[in-house]
Amino acid sequence: MVITRFAPSPTGDPHIGNIRTALFGYLFAKKNKGRFLLRIEDTDQKRLNQASINIVKEALRWLEIIPENINKPMIQSQRLEIYHKAAFELVEKDMAYICTCSEERLKEVRACQKALGKPPGYDSHCRKKTFTLAATRLDELPEGTVIRMKLPENKTIEFNDLVRGKISVNTSTLDDSVILKSDGFPTYHLAAVVDDHEMKISHVIRAEEWLPSTPKHVFLHRAFGWEPPEFAHLPVILGPNKGKLSKRDGATGILEYKKMGYLPDALINFMILLGWNPKDDKELFVSPSQIAIGGTSLMMLEKLFKIEYVNKSPAVFDIGKLNHFNEFYLKCKTPKQLQELIKDFDIPDLSIPEGKLLERGGFKTLKEMAEYIKALRQTPKYPKELLVFKKSTPEATQKGLKAAAEKLEKISDPSWKQDNLQKALEETVKEQNLSNGDVFWPVRVALSGAEKSPSPVELLVTLKKEESINRIKKAL
Ligand code: GLU
Repeated sequence: MVITRFAPSPTGDPHIGNIRTALFGYLFAKKNKGRFLLRIEDTDQKRLNQASINIVKEALRWLEIIPENINKPMIQSQRLEIYHKAAFELVEKDMAYICTCSEERLKEVRACQKALGKPPGYDSHCRKKTFTLAATRLDELPEGTVIRMKLPENKTIEFNDLVRGKISVNTSTLDDSVILKSDGFPTYHLAAVVDDHEMKISHVIRAEEWLPSTPKHVFLHRAFGWEPPEFAHLPVILGPNKGKLSKRDGATGILEYKKMGYLPDALINFMILLGWNPKDDKELFVSPSQIAIGGTSLMMLEKLFKIEYVNKSPAVFDIGKLNHFNEFYLKCKTPKQLQELIKDFDIPDLSIPEGKLLERGGFKTLKEMAEYIKALRQTPKYPKELLVFKKSTPEATQKGLKAAAEKLEKISDPSWKQDNLQKALEETVKEQNLSNGDVFWPVRVALSGAEKSPSPVELLVTLKKEESINRIKKAL
């Protein structure tokens, strides 16, 4: 049975990179009819931010990347006793040891290593000390005591990474990391290994930054006598200039994107391409007709996803792509779906016409669309010359507007619909012996006050009867 997990450290708002890890773990589990679980890695009490746990959950719910235990995730800070026992079990097996080095000594060691140009790491000072205290608990030992893993000397640790293939590391390049801290909390290494085993995680899917820790994890699994899970490390995400991804580029909290009016479909589509592609040129995973009947990019990816298609090379964050996807998914929404979505943006009593107001607007986000509609609601200001189409005259324009207003006034509220409105304007042109530019143009400008805007009929539907007539009269 495939079981994957998302194991965030609640230290701040999860960003796209964090949630990408969740997405890949989720998709791999779904594709293999497996399970996807959540674990909160809150063992670093100094960096802990409680609010962040709720933000993670909210983000996962919003994007529908839902771990089956989302309401009751495994929480590491509630399991200290288990890690404590596990650490002492390893001491007993001579796979870990007690270390009493002071913070000062460690600092000196680091300074020395730096001066000699050596990589920083623990110098194994306490490794050879046989601790005479028959302690089974950390609190029975001097303050500041920690437990460290005891890596074998000069041995090769091997494991298979599903993205990178076989990886071997010699232990001479690794140092004995702390597994239990003096405050009684485990380090990430110990807690992750103990929990991955307990949760029966079959595949650890996580960001590449954890690849250097993996040999230590493999060692720990084996030290306990467990078979390590499979690993897959997702490529680094770089900023648009191929440098580190910065706040400005996209390392902002994922829910910020919600506030900016991005759709889950667009974000899922964007995140999956950060390190994966379906090996054809396809970039969009759901069609407009599928969306109209409730299909999502996530549903499609649940079928398409293949771990073999994860890339080794870094992914590049390109906000332009996200905007492009969002524009596409916005266009695919039916007026009814849009009406629901735009509610979050505080626009009362909105009617979106069946004709696609959006297509012309080319809105990138729901927020842009909402702001446009809000602006539309304010009486427009424009120079009166704008009312006259370049092939028209002030007289013809006035005639067109007047006739249009009279015709529109006769349409009742329930009949105020796209088809009827279109017909009314066309009839005005005919009956008055005018051209389209004498009617459609000035009506559109009267309603929008802008040189470019959606069509007059779309505006009439959006603004409704009373407001539309008022604006046309004002123009007259
Ligand atoms: N807590 C780690 C993080 O937030 C998870 C590492 C892992 O998945 O093993 O990145």
